[in-house]
Amino acid sequence: MSNAYLTHPAVPLPTTGTPGLVSVVIPVYNEEEGLQSLFARLYPALDALGVRYEVVFINDGSRDRSGALLRQQFERRPDVTRVIYFNGNYGQHMAIMAGFSHVRGYRVITLDADLQNPPEEIGKLLVAMDSGHDYVGTIRRQRHDVAWRKIASRAMNRLRERLTRIRMTDQGCMLRAYDRRIVDAIAQSTEVSTYIPALAYTFAAHPTEIVVSHEERSAGESKYSLYSLIRLNFDLVTGFSILPLQLFSLLGFVLSLLSGLFVAYLLVRRVMVGPEAEGLFTLFAITFLLMGILLFGIGLLGEYIGRIYQQVRLRPRYLVQAVLQMPVQEAAAQAMQEPVAQMAQQPAQEPAPQPVQRPDA
Ligand code: UDP
Ligand code: MG
Repeated sequence: MSNAYLTHPAVPLPTTGTPGLVSVVIPVYNEEEGLQSLFARLYPALDALGVRYEVVFINDGSRDRSGALLRQQFERRPDVTRVIYFNGNYGQHMAIMAGFSHVRGYRVITLDADLQNPPEEIGKLLVAMDSGHDYVGTIRRQRHDVAWRKIASRAMNRLRERLTRIRMTDQGCMLRAYDRRIVDAIAQSTEVSTYIPALAYTFAAHPTEIVVSHEERSAGESKYSLYSLIRLNFDLVTGFSILPLQLFSLLGFVLSLLSGLFVAYLLVRRVMVGPEAEGLFTLFAITFLLMGILLFGIGLLGEYIGRIYQQVRLRPRYLVQAVLQMPVQEAAAQAMQEPVAQMAQQPAQEPAPQPVQRPDA
């Protein structure tokens, strides 16, 4: 492509979404114990920023009182609160995905509901966006989690760095800021299993990372079991790299070469020295090693094939049961009472959803 078509200096494309409106997306799964303290810190922190904002909660099929608490909070602050109710538990990343396809703002922040990411840090992310970054990742200054998770995460971070082209210092921290254009691209990605911070990296033009603080979970327990953590990390690796598959064909190639040489050696030896009976257990050892590698390879194939299978069924990735929100006109009328920050020529591009019951693809 010729540079003649580029205006100089390059002007970034205008972003979509309501100008000046910041959307905060929070997935919630069985967080009844911590929600009140989240509300008590999140809203004042956002009010203090002096920007227009909306908070989009996604109730990921909580079986406790979280859904009711979110409803109460909506009634308290209907102008800035929206709640999406899933009809079941689809996982944190699907919840964020649903949030992304409902946001109205031109900048989007993701946050965990358990207060491990302090809402007071949101301002820092917005400052980084002001300086032209379209994606702001975060690094936890000091992580407050159990020791085995810190060690496992560090190992996974390192493995991901090798396997994928995604450069994130701290893949696990969900407090992140995205330009609406990236959010729209993510919402349009139809993959069934994904890892949103990594997906965002593939769309970002000027990503950056900043250091934020991290706290202990305010209440309740982690919603991730060891099993779901392993699944999530497989999603991350298989979703962004086919290198593990390629490694296997490479390994297979090298191994068949070696065993070919071994067979040739045994043949020659048989002719020259006669049959051998010793070294039998060495042979066993080699066989078992190869069997282990084979099984792992088949399992790995299965990880990819399983995901392909899920994908080709083309089922809706999640089902929205209800959305609690003010109609867009009213929200806009409320917003008009405050000064609109910048880029007022950009129209809002939301079709005016009502509190409805509708399936969502
Ligand atoms: N979460 C969710 N669906 C799930 C699991 C978790 O929406 O199936 C939410 C959870 O409510 C929290 C966030 O995702 O807001 C992160 O979960 P958690 O704090 O348990 O993860 P950890 O900090 O242990 O990695
Ligand atoms: Mg947490």
